[in-house]
Amino acid sequence: MAIIGIDLGTTNSLVCVCQDDHVKLVPNPLGQVLTPSVVSVEEDGSIEVGAVAKERLVSHPEATAASFKRYMGTSQQVTLRGQRFTPQELSSFVLRQLKKDAEEYLGEEISEAVISVPAYFNDHQRYATREAGELAGLHVERLINEPSAAALAASRISQEEEGSYLVFDFGGGTLDVSIVDYFDNVIEIIAVSGDNHLGGDDFDEVIARKFCTEHQMSYDQMEPQKKATLLRLAENCKRTLTSQSEAVLTWETEGLERSLTLTNITLAELCQEIFDRMGQVISTALRDSGRTIEEIDEVVLVGGSSKMPVIAFYLQTYLNKKPCMIGSPDEVVAVGAGLYAGIKERRKEIRDLVLTDICPFTLGTDIVNYSDTKRPIMSPIIERNSILPSSKVGYYTNSYDNQTHISVGIYQGEAYYCEENIKLGVIEMDILPVPKGKTQLKICFTYDINGILEVEVTDYYRKNTVKKVLACEQLRLSEEELERRIEELKRYHLTSSGGVRAKLVLARGERMFSELLGEKRQEAGRILRWLQEQIAEKSDQEIAKSVKEAEAAFDQLEESKR
Ligand code: ADP
Ligand code: MG
Repeated sequence: MAIIGIDLGTTNSLVCVCQDDHVKLVPNPLGQVLTPSVVSVEEDGSIEVGAVAKERLVSHPEATAASFKRYMGTSQQVTLRGQRFTPQELSSFVLRQLKKDAEEYLGEEISEAVISVPAYFNDHQRYATREAGELAGLHVERLINEPSAAALAASRISQEEEGSYLVFDFGGGTLDVSIVDYFDNVIEIIAVSGDNHLGGDDFDEVIARKFCTEHQMSYDQMEPQKKATLLRLAENCKRTLTSQSEAVLTWETEGLERSLTLTNITLAELCQEIFDRMGQVISTALRDSGRTIEEIDEVVLVGGSSKMPVIAFYLQTYLNKKPCMIGSPDEVVAVGAGLYAGIKERRKEIRDLVLTDICPFTLGTDIVNYSDTKRPIMSPIIERNSILPSSKVGYYTNSYDNQTHISVGIYQGEAYYCEENIKLGVIEMDILPVPKGKTQLKICFTYDINGILEVEVTDYYRKNTVKKVLACEQLRLSEEELERRIEELKRYHLTSSGGVRAKLVLARGERMFSELLGEKRQEAGRILRWLQEQIAEKSDQEIAKSVKEAEAAFDQLEESKR
């Protein structure tokens, strides 16, 4: 049975299959390989995923959710039509859609997947991603770091058998920079660094804010629906600047038509802060890798936002090296995940490739802070960027005379104080009462490629060992809860893929109706009603023609706004 590779993105998701030793991106019912990671609940309770849902962000904000990957691994929930959903449940709808598209494409059932996650994802986020897979009826064979997947794809596509890469993955909401070696058929990640809150969305916001300052409007106090419209126009303007040197953002609101003209040069000036943050991420990755830029053979652009000319220009200036684009940057991670899924299936062509992974964060335990006993200090055991699987040992002792019990806290993160890191768990153990410094405790951490951490604490005095396999208890569902939730989610059906083009045009019409005002709004309403009547009365062939006509009419209406 086939295993699929999935890039579950903040903004867009893709699914890739490995067929006849070749990877192929699976098109969705609209014929596109990028499916927006947007979920909308319809009036009848069915679930819309992708481009139609994206239109509904504006027309039905109370029923639609986007960018939920940002909240993976937290307890934050989203209420859609009065129903509460966790980020992993929303993600499971996207995965269900991708699974369905791949099944229709391959003509067989699929139950296993390799899913990519940002290298900076912590354990909570990784577990949440696995759970999303389970909720969608997919066994997650492995989570693969997005830069690992990108490196795998890049090396395959360029057919460069050897080299050191700096992979610059800049998506909608996250930036990952990694240093990757490819030698002797081994792809090894040397260092990763990232920012979970830096992406193309930030450019959209900078443009939207600039528009507001130019026109004495308040961005921060704008109502959500208006803000969504402005951000959409800002994104269009940003995309135009990728293919043209100048773009105009025109917005008709409050009875006035306002506009903002941008060039790539003005955009670069507006985004200095974004570039500064990017620079920090790049420097950390290079520093952790112990490499200089001269030792890097290729700077590889990955992610939709790295298509922007200002990014290539910035990288070239900052690194003094010309970055390269291999294939389409927003498809590279999915291709890598598909290749890896192929490896999992032992396809012969890619059988002999070894992919190593690294632990992107530090794992450690707490030690007493004698100057402030309430704030224990982090003692690192497995340091960030260690190659996985990794097994490391730390030696510790009792903290005061005649101590009879110890609690070994287990933490993840880079901060000095444990309270600022993520607590993964604790091991409780009784020890023999002896003078301070006499107990010999050996703490062994073993961390595998699937993000499972095993901690073993041994007291040499008592010859006693306590072992624990760690899960993120407070956020994880038990087996029974998971089963129950899978059952509950079954009542949400994905909308059928039939007539999806018509649905998209109808959703667009509704979105335009809620955005526009006056005569243009009425015109949008008229086209919408006309199309609805056509769909109700006509044959499939005639409907297809009407959909095209309505699309052209909406295009014209949107054009006339500019
Ligand atoms: P993610 O990995 O977060 O799901 P993607 O790699 O699909 O995201 O990138 C999405 C981002 O790329 C969005 O912010 C989008 O605006 C931006 N993007 C996509 N195409 C272009 C383009 N041609 N020019 C500029 N930005 C683009
Ligand atoms: Mg991505």
